[in-house]
Amino acid sequence: MAEPVRCDVCGGLFSSSHLSSHKRLSHGGKTTGHIPKSHINDQDAMRRIVDLFDGLAEESKKNVLDRLTAPRGTP
Ligand SMILES: [Zn+2]
Repeated sequence: MAEPVRCDVCGGLFSSSHLSSHKRLSHGGKTTGHIPKSHINDQDAMRRIVDLFDGLAEESKKNVLDRLTAPRGTP
């Protein structure tokens, strides 16, 4: 039996096998718009980002790093 895992983005409980796909579907494509931005400070944001990053597949991590390190301002 899979243990429920709490989603650190929306706080919902999901089985561990579903959590990563839930995050991808519910929070992956867009910014976490349902969380008031004023409630997130930099420390929280960074921890969230690292948590999410750790949950990604290696391929996706590379993709994220490529985007983060790409020069800004190019459409
Ligand atoms: Zn969630």
